[in-house]
Amino acid sequence: MVKIFIDPGHGGTDPGAIGNGLQEKNVTLQIATRIRDILLAEYNNVSIRMSRTGDQTVSLTERTNAANAWGADFYLSVHINSGGGTGYEDYVYLGVGVPTTIYQKNIHEQIIKLVDFFDRGMKQANFHVLRETNMPAVLTENGFIDNANDAAKLKSSSFIENIARGHVNGIARSFGLPKKSGGTLYKVQIGAFSVKANADNLAAEAKIKGFDAYVSYKDGLYKVQIGAFANLKNAEQLAEKAEAAGFEAIIVQE
Ligand SMILES: [Zn+2]
Repeated sequence: MVKIFIDPGHGGTDPGAIGNGLQEKNVTLQIATRIRDILLAEYNNVSIRMSRTGDQTVSLTERTNAANAWGADFYLSVHINSGGGTGYEDYVYLGVGVPTTIYQKNIHEQIIKLVDFFDRGMKQANFHVLRETNMPAVLTENGFIDNANDAAKLKSSSFIENIARGHVNGIARSFGLPKKSGGTLYKVQIGAFSVKANADNLAAEAKIKGFDAYVSYKDGLYKVQIGAFANLKNAEQLAEKAEAAGFEAIIVQE
C-alpha cells in the first residue's frame, strides 16, 4: 500500500494569498480533495491522509509531524501563488538526501500536459514542509491568485479538475499505481465539443428534457453524457430514449 499524504496549504485563520475574490485556502482544499477522490476511485494499492479536510487551522509542524508519524511514502503540498507573476511552478528541497527530483519531474510534466498555465519551471526551496518531512515531498504552486487570468481559470471547476488530474497522473506514474480494473462503464454520450459553452448548452437542453446530463472533460473535448452503466443493455435503453427525444446518442466505453 502506497501512503500518500496530501497537504492543502493554509486553512482556518490563515487564508494564504487572497485576490480576485479567491482565498488560497479554499482553492487548495478543492484541488487536494479532488486529488484524493480521483486516486481512491481510480487506483488500487493507495491510501491517503490529508493535513486537513475542512477549513481548520493547522500549523506547519503539525502537518509534517502527521505525515512523519503515519510513515507516508510521499508528501504533496498544494498551494496557489501570488506576488505579480503568472503560471505554474513546483518545489523540492534537495538537502534531505531523499531523491525527490523524479517525483517533481513526473508531477510537473503531467500538470503542464493537462493544464493551460505558463510553465515557470521546476524549482528548489528550503520550505518547512519540504525540509521537515522524512519522505520525498513536492510543493506545487498552481497559478497566481492576484493575476486576473490565472484567477479566472481557478474559478472554473473543469480547470480545477485538470489540475487535480495532473497531480494524480504524476503520482500514479511515480509509484506505478495500478488502475482499478473491471471498472469499465458504458456511458451514454450525446455530444463532444472543443468549446465548453457548446457542451454546457447541450447539457442544459438535455436537462430541460429530463435527462441527468453532465459535462466531463477528457482528451481535449467537453463531453456531454447522460448516464453511465456497468450493464450495456441499460446504456442501450437510455440511448434509445435520448434518440427518441431528438439527441444523437452514442455509447462509449471508459
Ligand atoms: Zn501558500
